[in-house]
Amino acid sequence: MEKRNNWLLSISIFLFVALMLSVVQTLNTARPLLLLERFVKHGGWVEVLVIALYAAFLGYKMTDPACVPKFRKLSWIVFSIVFFSQFILGVTVDTIFLMTGKLHLPIPMMVLAGPIYRGQLSIMPILFLSTIILTGPAWCSHYCYFGAIDSWVSGRRKKKFFIKNGSAFKWTTFIVVIFFAWFFRMVGVGHFITTLLAILFGLLGVGVIFFLSNRYGTMIHCTYYCPLGSLVNLIKWINPFRLTIVDSCTLCMRCTSICKYDALKLENLKSRNPGISCTLCGDCIHSCHHQSLRYKLFSLSSNTSRSIYLFLTISLHAIFLAIARI
Ligand code: SF4
Ligand code: SF4
Repeated sequence: MEKRNNWLLSISIFLFVALMLSVVQTLNTARPLLLLERFVKHGGWVEVLVIALYAAFLGYKMTDPACVPKFRKLSWIVFSIVFFSQFILGVTVDTIFLMTGKLHLPIPMMVLAGPIYRGQLSIMPILFLSTIILTGPAWCSHYCYFGAIDSWVSGRRKKKFFIKNGSAFKWTTFIVVIFFAWFFRMVGVGHFITTLLAILFGLLGVGVIFFLSNRYGTMIHCTYYCPLGSLVNLIKWINPFRLTIVDSCTLCMRCTSICKYDALKLENLKSRNPGISCTLCGDCIHSCHHQSLRYKLFSLSSNTSRSIYLFLTISLHAIFLAIARI
């Protein structure tokens, strides 16, 4: 039965990703959207096949909850490496590696602050919002090029303890960033200064990852520093997927140390509600011996809800892997 589910999910993901990327491949754009097509005629079709097979493999593996922590993190870091490699090659070697060639800073905070400062939406915020509508908070557990680094660095350490006053810092940073993006626009602060400040913010974030997340074994950057992550926490509710803690939970707290987003503290387990920072990553599901942690989508069973969630997140991950570049 389990094997059949693995294959079912895997084949569905393969067909969906192949279909979506085939549409992308046939679009009549100034430059082909799939990178391989830019180098070899019909190479885009090879890319469609390879990425669809890769997505199907992930689907097959991740049907087993015990495999989720390993394969989710691996695929997320692959996404980040591909994204940043294309960016660096595009800037230093040839613009063929870029999507539009219009450079913007690859710092997640800019997805929030950029539109406030410019007074208009661009492609990145639209892409970001579409992931929230389809998969809720999965931006911060599957797609973000920065979060993958926080996940990888914190994942090498055992979680130590909860961060005191982390939430106060998180929401203060969120409000300060929004205020200054608006303020700079109002008083007409130029691009040079705002770009420098954004780079400084990004570098500080890298420091948070390598010093704090690394030290405490928790995704401190994503949970307490990144304003885009805070926005995800606030607006993820527009998507109907949830993680529930059912009454079979004995408060043994086995899952607590697994959650790198600090969303399974004792008070969360007692109230049967994961913390606001839960990204539906799914790492905790297998850690519970009582099957008390479950995905929920409307009144569907937890297994069906989880399968639909995996289908959506893995498919989007694969499609972004093929087309998300600056
Ligand atoms: S919190 Fe920020 S850096 Fe982390 S995954 Fe979310 S958007 Fe990316
Ligand atoms: S509560 Fe579970 S699903 Fe939510 S972020 Fe933590 S480990 Fe991931």
